[in-house]
Amino acid sequence: MIKEMKYCINCKLIVQPKKDFNLCAFLFLALLGSFWIYIIYYVLKSKKCPICNSTNWGGNYLNL
Ligand SMILES: [Zn+2]
Repeated sequence: MIKEMKYCINCKLIVQPKKDFNLCAFLFLALLGSFWIYIIYYVLKSKKCPICNSTNWGGNYLNL
C-alpha cells in the first residue's frame, strides 16, 4: 500500500495526512447506539496535516 503524501504550505514540509479518531465521541455515540453516525462522519471528514492540523495543501508531492 502506497502511503499518501502531501505538501503542507503552512509547514513547508511533505507530510502524511491523517485523520484524528475521536475515541470519546465514538464511545459516547456507541452508548447511544449510534456509533455508525461517527463512522460516517469519520469517513467523510478530510485529512489534516499532523503538524499544524490544517488542510492547506500545496498539491501532491509528485507535482512539485
Ligand atoms: Zn502543516
